[in-house]
Amino acid sequence: MAFEGLSEKLNHVFKKLKSRGKLSESDVKDAMREVRMALLEADVSYKVVKDFVAKVSQRCVGEEVLSSLTPAQQVVKIVNDELIALMGNDNARINMPSKPPCVIMMCGLQGSGKTTHAAKLAKYLKREGHRPLLVACDIYRPAAINQLMVVGEKAGVKVFEMGQIDPVVISTQAMRYAKDYGHDVVILDTAGRLHIDEKLMDELKQIKAKVEPNEIMLVVDAMTGQDAVNVAKAFDEALGIDSVLMSKLDSDTRGGAALSVLAVTGKPIKFVGMGEKLDEFERFHPERMASRILGMGDVLTLVEKAEAVMSKSDAEKLTKKLQEHSFDMNDLLDQLKQIRKMGSLKSIISMLPGVGDKVKDMDVDEKQFSRIEAMITSMTKKERAKPSIINPQRKRRIAAGSGTKVEDVNRLLKQFEQMQQFMKQMGGGGKTKMFARRAR
Ligand code: GDP
Repeated sequence: MAFEGLSEKLNHVFKKLKSRGKLSESDVKDAMREVRMALLEADVSYKVVKDFVAKVSQRCVGEEVLSSLTPAQQVVKIVNDELIALMGNDNARINMPSKPPCVIMMCGLQGSGKTTHAAKLAKYLKREGHRPLLVACDIYRPAAINQLMVVGEKAGVKVFEMGQIDPVVISTQAMRYAKDYGHDVVILDTAGRLHIDEKLMDELKQIKAKVEPNEIMLVVDAMTGQDAVNVAKAFDEALGIDSVLMSKLDSDTRGGAALSVLAVTGKPIKFVGMGEKLDEFERFHPERMASRILGMGDVLTLVEKAEAVMSKSDAEKLTKKLQEHSFDMNDLLDQLKQIRKMGSLKSIISMLPGVGDKVKDMDVDEKQFSRIEAMITSMTKKERAKPSIINPQRKRRIAAGSGTKVEDVNRLLKQFEQMQQFMKQMGGGGKTKMFARRAR
């Protein structure tokens, strides 16, 4: 997970400040020295760190903070504000034109995750109600066209390809196709290279001149740290980009690139990729990211993820079942499958308030889900609907069928019973509200 080390170190600084009560200027100075180290170790670019710490320090030694009754909290608030400002105060959206189609030109070096993210973005926009068209303009590797076809199919999005011909011709033909077939968004998957070279830039410039994209989005790999920032700067200078999509944030523990891009290039990050699966993709919200860094959780993203994997009718059915107390093991199995679609358990837990950096020390057993799923699938439909009929003989059969032990089956049944009692106590309110939001 990104920002693990940074989160831990900042929290350590704040804890120390909180233990002080009243703060002096030198307390703030010491704390800022540590904040500076933490940011540098997270691989944030040097100049960005310098400016950030100067701004935060200036605000922190101000009269209101030092004379406040809760100075440490004020410092946290200032760091939070400045982190948000560093990543972009407003939530940057795609530049949608008033007259469709909207053309998004995806660029990036080879291996940055461009093709995967073209499909992720297409799937995301489809869920938002658009009719995207993916266009295969990476003609140098025949495998790239196939790869786009495969991910496009997974995303349920049409892929336009013309084989290995001039990408400028492909993109202009794709525009015509989009207009003829009512696609309101065209996503061009352009060619990547191992390094930025003139030939690549010339080709991208030609496509840009011909199709006049509404958005040139550069995909950069978060794991490459400051190199990602340098690539963004170079692409912007040579081609002109509108935004950055940062991939592989799940594999980058430092997070420095995400914190430096806007300050160095002036271009906002609009989306982030958090894994290889097509759903592991989020819009970039600076304020939520700052919250995660400071260990304050990110419940809004969690709710959005839940909403994304659950259709409106499923949410309505679930709400009804919870209200009528008829939630059985068949429903539990469905829910487990939905949660799995939201990402790894660790990534879900890390978004809860107060968890933050602690998740890295947590022993999260991802296999536990699979075991529970295996036990429930080894039950008959009747047993799932009425677990009370599961006698010792049935328990032995379920354990054998799922490769678990009778104790595991007992534990699951006990937990399920407790869960049902808990739901009854909630009396159809409380917990169901989250789902009801979607069901309205
Ligand atoms: P391209 O050459 O830029 O088109 O890159 P690809 O889309 O082919 O991706 C390169 C590799 O990175 C593939 O193995 C992807 O599965 C992987 N990848 C892409 N995005 C992510 C991400 O967000 N997280 C992780 N962990 N892997 C990713």
